[in-house]
Amino acid sequence: MNAAVPATKSPPPSAAIELVALTKRYAQGSPAVDRINLRIRSGSYCCLLGPSGCGKSTTLRMIAGHESVSSGDILLENRNITDRPAADRGTAMMFQSFALFPHLSALDNVAFSLKMKGVGKTERHTRAKDLLDRVAMGALANRKPAELSGGQQQRVALARALITRPKVLLLDEPLSALDPFLRIQMRAELRRWQKELGLTFIHVTHSQEEAMALADTMVVMNHGLIEQVGSPHEIYNRPASEFVARFMGGHNVLDTAAGKIGVRTDHMQVTPASQAAPDGLHSKRAVITDVEYQGTYVLLGLQHPGVSPTAHATAELSVMVSEAAFAARPYSLGEAVQLSWAPEAAHSLKTTPSPQLSAVL
Ligand code: ADP
Ligand code: MG
Repeated sequence: MNAAVPATKSPPPSAAIELVALTKRYAQGSPAVDRINLRIRSGSYCCLLGPSGCGKSTTLRMIAGHESVSSGDILLENRNITDRPAADRGTAMMFQSFALFPHLSALDNVAFSLKMKGVGKTERHTRAKDLLDRVAMGALANRKPAELSGGQQQRVALARALITRPKVLLLDEPLSALDPFLRIQMRAELRRWQKELGLTFIHVTHSQEEAMALADTMVVMNHGLIEQVGSPHEIYNRPASEFVARFMGGHNVLDTAAGKIGVRTDHMQVTPASQAAPDGLHSKRAVITDVEYQGTYVLLGLQHPGVSPTAHATAELSVMVSEAAFAARPYSLGEAVQLSWAPEAAHSLKTTPSPQLSAVL
């Protein structure tokens, strides 16, 4: 927090979930989650994003109460829930591939947790039916999961998670078992339900594309630490670190005298090496190593000049050229070119994650 901020500044928007120095240590060695601080705004769609093993599921399971906390605190609407049992937290979890009971009808799947709590049959069926109606599944309440499409199963799973009236819905890679077409349909549906219900969703994914499509707020994690928190637009346009720029993709990381900089691959221009560099732009020489047609654009892979093509398996830099521009001036493998970019297209990158980054929304 900036010390110069006047005391009269309005308080931050209410947080559904607040993590305070939250840590999980499974064994000796570096912690799976390392003193992370995070506030998740009430009613927002938050995606925890990062490579496999970075601590996303561990963080989610600690919030759910399915994993003990080594140190630190979890607050739900300002109530400390760190030591509360899972069923008593105000959270609910939706699992990968929905984990519906195959032998139970949609109605009984949704009513299941009420049955466990000893709620009578009439009441639990009424409440389950209400929720199924809400997710447009009332007409199919008596079907078993195998008689439902993937999309219908997702709605039953959502209704089942909502029956406990949670404040926060936790989703761990809920779409990763689906085929690519269904995944895109289902993510649009999740987003729509989140807005309609006005609940806080915390969704774990390793897919940048999924997080960008869904999130109000993205939390990018690496090695048990938070690297960056922001809207998809902020993170894509201003990745804070080399890790975030590389993980998000679509960026080149360049070494300069002033340190590493990031430039979006669609914010760089390619010109033949024989031409003078365009005025006012920064430039760099390179050699074309890959030409990939992608439909609306052509992706050029490039190496620094003088690097033997066998020294690196993949291109170090890439530039997106529109299909029309490439058709007007095609480039070929091995061709020497000049890359250029406007100074304002470049921004500096941190090279190391900052531990205990205080992520305040
Ligand atoms: P992610 O969901 O981001 O892929 P996880 O939170 O599952 O990552 O795991 C973070 C780290 O903690 C990994 O190094 C993983 O091997 C380790 N880990 C996860 N669960 C356990 C466990 N039950 N026991 C020991 N180590 C674990
Ligand atoms: Mg995981």
